[in-house]
Amino acid sequence: MTIFSRIIAGEIPCYKIAETENCFAFLDINPLVKGHVLCIPKREVDYLFDLTDQELCDLQLFAKKIATAQKKVFNCIKVGEAVLGLEVPHAHIHLIPMQSEKDMLFSNPKLKLTPEEFEKIAADIRAALS
Ligand code: 5GP
Repeated sequence: MTIFSRIIAGEIPCYKIAETENCFAFLDINPLVKGHVLCIPKREVDYLFDLTDQELCDLQLFAKKIATAQKKVFNCIKVGEAVLGLEVPHAHIHLIPMQSEKDMLFSNPKLKLTPEEFEKIAADIRAALS
């Protein structure tokens, strides 16, 4: 079981954003910027492009909804999307509110946020979804 499957199962805590039958979104624990979200399929697949066409479409449409909410909450130019998957072998899309292209650099130092800051960010995105 991947660490992300354990998050979906509730065995490992996360700052949850949203969930559908097939997809799940939560805050990245080592964010590049405030509001860095991960969108994942519930089915445990390592490589994004090993998802079925339908699963990939579902995940992308789910990510679109989350990105629309992020755009409302953060005063960003755009929400950037990235797929790496070099650390966790469970397909995921990074959604990153961008002020400039530098915000998408994964070699940047990660933000250290307090639990209260994470909770507030997650609550703000959740509120913007509804
Ligand atoms: P990648 O696999 O795309 O290279 O990176 C995996 C991402 O997942 C990283 O940005 C990392 O901070 C995030 N991550 C790894 N483990 C956890 C975790 O247990 N909880 C959360 N919320 N994010 C995680």
